[in-house]
Amino acid sequence: MTHDIADLFARRERERYAMNGRHLNEQMVRVLQAIGYDVGFCRGKGQYLYSRDGTRYLDLLSGYGVFAIGRNHPALREALKSVLDSDLPNLVQMDVSTLAGILAERLLAHVPYLDKALFANSGSETVEAAIKLARAATARPGILYCEHAFHGLSNGALSLNGDDIFRNGFEPLLPDCVRIPFNDLPALENALRSRTIAAFIVEPIQGKGVNVPADNYLDGVAHLCRRYGTLLVADEVQTGLGRTGRFLAIEHWNVEPDMVLLAKTLSGGHVPVGAVLTRKQIFQKVFDRMDRAVVHGSTFGNNDLAMAAGIATLDVLVSERLIEKAARTGERLSRALAAMIPRYEYLRDVRGLGLMIGIEFGPPKSLKLKASWHALEAARKGLFCQLITIPLFEEHKILSQVASHASHTIKLLPSLVISDEDCDWILSGFASVLADSERAPGAVWSLGKTLIGHAVRGQRTGALPVS
Ligand code: PMP
Repeated sequence: MTHDIADLFARRERERYAMNGRHLNEQMVRVLQAIGYDVGFCRGKGQYLYSRDGTRYLDLLSGYGVFAIGRNHPALREALKSVLDSDLPNLVQMDVSTLAGILAERLLAHVPYLDKALFANSGSETVEAAIKLARAATARPGILYCEHAFHGLSNGALSLNGDDIFRNGFEPLLPDCVRIPFNDLPALENALRSRTIAAFIVEPIQGKGVNVPADNYLDGVAHLCRRYGTLLVADEVQTGLGRTGRFLAIEHWNVEPDMVLLAKTLSGGHVPVGAVLTRKQIFQKVFDRMDRAVVHGSTFGNNDLAMAAGIATLDVLVSERLIEKAARTGERLSRALAAMIPRYEYLRDVRGLGLMIGIEFGPPKSLKLKASWHALEAARKGLFCQLITIPLFEEHKILSQVASHASHTIKLLPSLVISDEDCDWILSGFASVLADSERAPGAVWSLGKTLIGHAVRGQRTGALPVS
């Protein structure tokens, strides 16, 4: 029996698709094979992935945003190894955790208007905690969420999902969860008037579609929530910890929510972790007596490896000035992508903040191209984006994703460490694929025909998981 996991990986990695098809999600294997993504990644370092044959790929997906500091960062490795080498008294349970105390202290120093932290094991778990804390603290049942919101796929979090594709087949979900349009203050006020709403949970920038709110929206939200006694919960699982060029995205609008939810980046990409940051008054209403000291929590919530990953990740974000770097690189990349809009018929919009960027496509003007666009759309809405992401992967070695189901937007969510050379790589990849897409017939459109064939035969190759 070997515990040399690298050796075990090397010996068995060629069987990954067969093993997954047999024992795990075979539909995922079919999707990867259908779109040619089955290159067998064998190594990850920083912002890059390496396939079996040693080809380097630029990763603009970063594990759905968990590798903000890059893959396998040496500081993270050192922190995790030092935990494993130390015989620490992990998870005593009838004691409190030193490392959790340190991570809470350091996180809250970045968010000085909040004073308490609660750790969880994923983004979804932070959402579950927020629902429970808000209901207990306000003694109200209702939770408000937005159209196109994504807060995770566990039962409570799914009850706040704004896209039916995720909900179908799993209903009925939690009662008293009310959906309103994003970016719509009158709709919010209408919903709050009943004074039965415990919390409004909102992503400052929606991950599904990279939807950026109007300038006055989040400030108006905070104002209305305060007026009607509803807690404002900022789900910063994707946007938090530097992604948008600020520690929290909500800082762009100078808003101070009652709860902030973090996960993804905090893990350093290695150890699942989530954090709810909130106010003392909310905690005091939930954990209000000694016999209620454990009314919410989870077995692994404060585990040492997760806490160490969080501590090391925060250190790297600060010491490498990655938040400032994300603001700078994101601005440069967005501006250069937006400058391409007049040159390419399909390119419609570039939006986002920092290194969370949405690139939206739309129907072209010329008649010849319009027909091809409509043929794809008729086969399945949103199929066009695959015509961009597949050649980006195959020919330019760029891993990217569609921003949501049936969407015309591609989302870039790279590691915050990407360089100017990586930005040039992205820009030349997009320019080349967009130029090719305007040549019909051509290689891109013969791929289009293949995709239409897949869609017609019911192989939903565009329905890739997007998170
Ligand atoms: N909230 C947001 C805003 C997210 O983007 C996600 C994951 N994409 C989640 C919650 C759920 O996180 P997890 O997948 O870690 O449960």
